[in-house]
Amino acid sequence: MSEKSHQTIVVGGGMSGLTAAAYLSKTGHDVLLLEKNKGCGGLLNSFQREGFTFDAGARSILNAGIIHPMLKELGIELEFLDSPVSIGIENDVINLDSKTSLDDYKRLLEKLYPESINDIDKIISKIEGIMKDMAILYGIDNPNFRDMKNDRAYLKELLPWLGKFIFALRRMNRQNEPVESFLEKLSSNQSLIDIIAQHFFKKTPTFFALGYFYAYTDYIYPRGGTGELPKAIMEKIIEKDGKIQTGTKIVKVNLSEKEVKDKDGNSYSFDSLIWSADLKTLYRILDTRGLDEKITRKIFEQKELLLSKHGCDSVYSMFIGVDMPLEAFSSISNGHFFYTPSKKGLGELHWSELDSLIENYETTSREQILQWLNKYCQLTTYEISIPAFRNPALAPEGKTGLVISMLFEYDLMKKVKDANWYEEFRIEIENRMLDTLSNSIYPGLKDKVIFQSSSTPLSIESVAGSSEGAIVGWSYKSPVPVVNNLRKISSSVKTSIPNVYQAGQWAYSPAGIPTAILTGWYAAKNAMKTKNEKKLKREKTEV
Ligand SMILES: Cc1cc2nc3c(=O)[nH]c(=O)nc-3n(C[C@H](O)[C@H](O)[C@H](O)COP(=O)(O)OP(=O)(O)OC[C@H]3O[C@@H](n4cnc5c(N)ncnc54)[C@H](O)[C@@H]3O)c2cc1C
Repeated sequence: MSEKSHQTIVVGGGMSGLTAAAYLSKTGHDVLLLEKNKGCGGLLNSFQREGFTFDAGARSILNAGIIHPMLKELGIELEFLDSPVSIGIENDVINLDSKTSLDDYKRLLEKLYPESINDIDKIISKIEGIMKDMAILYGIDNPNFRDMKNDRAYLKELLPWLGKFIFALRRMNRQNEPVESFLEKLSSNQSLIDIIAQHFFKKTPTFFALGYFYAYTDYIYPRGGTGELPKAIMEKIIEKDGKIQTGTKIVKVNLSEKEVKDKDGNSYSFDSLIWSADLKTLYRILDTRGLDEKITRKIFEQKELLLSKHGCDSVYSMFIGVDMPLEAFSSISNGHFFYTPSKKGLGELHWSELDSLIENYETTSREQILQWLNKYCQLTTYEISIPAFRNPALAPEGKTGLVISMLFEYDLMKKVKDANWYEEFRIEIENRMLDTLSNSIYPGLKDKVIFQSSSTPLSIESVAGSSEGAIVGWSYKSPVPVVNNLRKISSSVKTSIPNVYQAGQWAYSPAGIPTAILTGWYAAKNAMKTKNEKKLKREKTEV
């Protein structure tokens, strides 16, 4: 094969594309991964500034019974540190260090909402049930990443687990209802519902949202930052003779020629293609000329469906270096902290008021938007990550780096950008975030900031090429256009496009790092099968 012709081409070097390329190169498959950015990692990456390390994507990584066995199977050694979570509301903070910390959470809610003690009891017992199912789902190494044929000890563990797993999956699939309406059936206290649900994406399926109370105890953190994980996988791909070409943005997929073209006009041909990036982009750049009419129609229908859908919620993240020692923060919480400054909850501010702002943007004054922003920053939930809590070497001595983020609506940011006050708006947001935290959990924080920068939903869209700045694929606000049942995840990678598989957060919903990895793994297995089928066909013809 010529340098630019490969058995499999993977487009996108996020966790899904890297997983696919790692498994393909492990078996000696001829694979080329093409990534548009200078480095791989996509929505999982870290960066350095003035001696501080910040995680720009996911703040910690869920093991989910996947990360450890996958790395072992790939022969990758990477040191992980614990990454315990804390939850804080107003002045109360609890550390979720053990699986019994749900009791502390219950007590926290009872203290804040004494009028709803019975509702809290019902909600906590539902969360408990979901946590038990999550413990079954994630509590054992995922069989895809273990050698079931030869590892007898694992098999002994696996067999009794399988029965429990099937029942847990069934129960989970029945809890697909949006978390907000699920909670509304258990309580009429809107503040209580908001405080539990507002830091999840809008209309997140119940089992996925409430399952996070288990996930919080399953987070791990690579010693050098979350970006170390994709870096280690990249190195392994290269060691196994897989090829990675960064700085290569794919702008055309020609199906009849079975080739992709980059922005500089270079072509790369493939037997099979694994698309591990934004799916709307794939369907926009497909050239279907020369394909069978029936297939073309199917592709067109899928394109129409995908383009009518919106990406999931996005986030606004601020990265600050602070002239305060770690101890000033470690006396408050763990290094991964979900903090809500007010027990009041976002209420309609996050729903109808926001929708109305966006819909009537042209007739809304900047003053009104800033008033909304003010309230939003005071009532929302912040995800605060302090990398140096896990490893003090990630910040200069005596100083602390913080990543502070909140969910933020892409459509509002886009309107602001189109109206030419994006930079001004950014500063307004940063100031309000800092004011809110300085007036609540971190007194004096604002005065100690050495530097600050931020990433908006529009930055995410442009850096990761992710539609609407989505950080976990499709929005849950309308039916998702891809497989959304864990029992069927293996089929989520198939497309109606000949020789093309899809992987990553757009291929399966609800998404995140574990499902990005799983879909990458399934896509690789399919590409290997395509290769073997082709080889068999060739051998038959030769005979
Ligand atoms: C702030 C934040 C917090 C998060 N928290 C969590 C969490 O707690 N738990 C969790 O499970 N998940 C979390 N996630 C989500 C998780 O990081 C992503 O779902 C996952 O990393 C997606 O991986 P992916 O491979 O599907 O896609 P991506 O990471 O988006 O990778 C796609 C890659 O394709 C490249 N690309 C795009 N278009 C092209 C093109 N035309 N040509 C070439 N390359 C292209 C992009 O540059 C990118 O590198 C979080 C994400 C963010 C941003």
